[in-house]
Amino acid sequence: MEKRLTVALVAHDAMKRDLAEWVEWNWEKLISHRLICTGTTGRIVAETLMERRGKDSAHTRFDITMLKSGPLGGDQQLGAMIANNDIDILIFFWDPMSAQPHDVDVKALLRLATLYNVPTAINRSSADFIISSTLITNEEYKPVIKDYSSYIERAVK
Ligand code: PGA
Repeated sequence: MEKRLTVALVAHDAMKRDLAEWVEWNWEKLISHRLICTGTTGRIVAETLMERRGKDSAHTRFDITMLKSGPLGGDQQLGAMIANNDIDILIFFWDPMSAQPHDVDVKALLRLATLYNVPTAINRSSADFIISSTLITNEEYKPVIKDYSSYIERAVK
């Protein structure tokens, strides 16, 4: 049986079509994993998967959780999941051409993904590389998490 991962998917509005196309292209790989999305992205991912799955009766279910919409706290919910080591992969198509009202949340999400060494795709090509990596299904592979104990135990007075 294939290793089941928790894959987070987020796309800014201008990038949602890109993500929908990417999901459509990779639906068979994604459908066996647990999917966590920010609210609006989740709706689009679910619609895309339902459409694709309908054409293939072998796949009847998929597991998707929709958090709050990104600007309403969804990015922060996702960040909290990363801090709890609950996310294996982050696919985050952020918009490089528009300012976001929740820019600080976007930055925080990317910061935590970096801090916790979560494999992160920020565009379609990097998402293609991650989803097609043999490491995805390798039971042995665990991303290294840095030891922050000296930071936690630092003298602060
Ligand atoms: P959305 O949020 O999926 O609810 O649109 C995405 C984001 O802006 O972080």
